Amino acid sequence: MNKKRLVVIGGGAAGFFCAVNAAGMNPLLEVIIVEKSSKLLSKVKVSGGGRCNVTHSCFSIAEMIKRYPRGNSFLKKAFHHFFTTDTINWFKERGVELKTEADGRMFR
Ligand SMILES: Cc1cc2nc3c(=O)[nH]c(=O)nc-3n(C[C@H](O)[C@H](O)[C@H](O)COP(=O)(O)OP(=O)(O)OC[C@H]3O[C@@H](n4cnc5c(N)ncnc54)[C@H](O)[C@@H]3O)c2cc1C
Repeated sequence: MNKKRLVVIGGGAAGFFCAVNAAGMNPLLEVIIVEKSSKLLSKVKVSGGGRCNVTHSCFSIAEMIKRYPRGNSFLKKAFHHFFTTDTINWFKERGVELKTEADGRMFR
């Protein structure tokens, strides 16, 4: 069987998320992340003051998209594929239980 290779450009949150999920979907796939700087995930490390605010405790797509007035139609489609519960489960499967603040923000 021919081994396929996926090259992900950029070692930030999006690149890593894409790479990890692609590798999980196809264990035969060779996944390479190409990063131009010397630092991987540098913004993730500082996000949420170091705690990383990964999602919001909102389980209604109609409610969530109201918070993104400029990108709501694109996000609506994306949220039908991957939404809050998927985010919570994605971290849980990797041993990370999210903590919910009183205002609904969810941190790692
Ligand atoms: C102080 C701060 C706090 C934040 N807090 C939060 C938070 O709490 N919650 C939250 O959700 N978001 C937060 N954010 C935003 C979040 O960090 C970013 O939205 C997220 O990291 C963006 O990820 P990305 O992968 O799209 O882009 P980036 O993190 O910018 O990653 C892109 C990567 O691609 C590399 N790259 C670019 N061009 C090339 C190229 N041609 N070849 C190779 N590599 C390339 C870059 O060097 C970079 O490493 C915060 C941001 C900051 C700055």
